[in-house]
Amino acid sequence: MITLKSQREIELMRIAGRVVAEVLQTLEQAIRPGITTAELDKIAERHIRQANCQPAFLGYHNFPASICTSVNEEVVHGIPSLRRLKEGDLISIDVGAVYQGYYGDAAATFPVGVIDEEDQRLLAVTQESLRRGIAKALPGSRLTDISHAIQSYVEEQGFSVVRDYVGHGIGNQMHEDPQVPNFGRPGRGPRLQAGMALAIEPMVNRGTWQVETLQDNWTVVTKDRQRSAHFEHTIVITADGPEVLTAL
Ligand code: MG
Repeated sequence: MITLKSQREIELMRIAGRVVAEVLQTLEQAIRPGITTAELDKIAERHIRQANCQPAFLGYHNFPASICTSVNEEVVHGIPSLRRLKEGDLISIDVGAVYQGYYGDAAATFPVGVIDEEDQRLLAVTQESLRRGIAKALPGSRLTDISHAIQSYVEEQGFSVVRDYVGHGIGNQMHEDPQVPNFGRPGRGPRLQAGMALAIEPMVNRGTWQVETLQDNWTVVTKDRQRSAHFEHTIVITADGPEVLTAL
């Protein structure tokens, strides 16, 4: 069941969303060759708690950290560790925060130092696909109009879209209905309405769209071990169009 959020609920989600956006901005400034992903996790957890929020991912299905850190061929759900980032790496960071029971969820992929040209294009295309998906989150449109906008742009640019993980409704739970695929034909699924809140999150690969999970039972990697990027925003649909809750 898709729930419509009240103005009060949206206001709480705005606060959670702003904290998530601040964390991503803070982490972007901290990312450099030599820093460990565990250090990034510490920075994020401190920021979230100081803002009177809780880290949404910590303990979720026993996930051991406050953020997901997925490097290079890792797509999503990477666990912060003593791994040191190196010049030329890509790091995808997913952040979730809860404020008075309401969730914000966003992700971005950042370069570590100087990255190659094709990786720069991967980041730009993934971010632009998210922007195009969000632009379709209009009252009266259909859910898969978002999905189609993302997939058609990504594939036109020569990259592929992950199928096994999708976006989701969000509110007083991190994952609510509906699922928001990043692929598919337009004009299908539920009709979008003001008050729906969605986490839209394209995962885009340089090579095959296929992924697999490592032995730690969390880290999702591309099957061909080529690099991947992930951008996500939490949005709410208003009568005037989409409002991004996880932007500053
Ligand atoms: Mg999400």
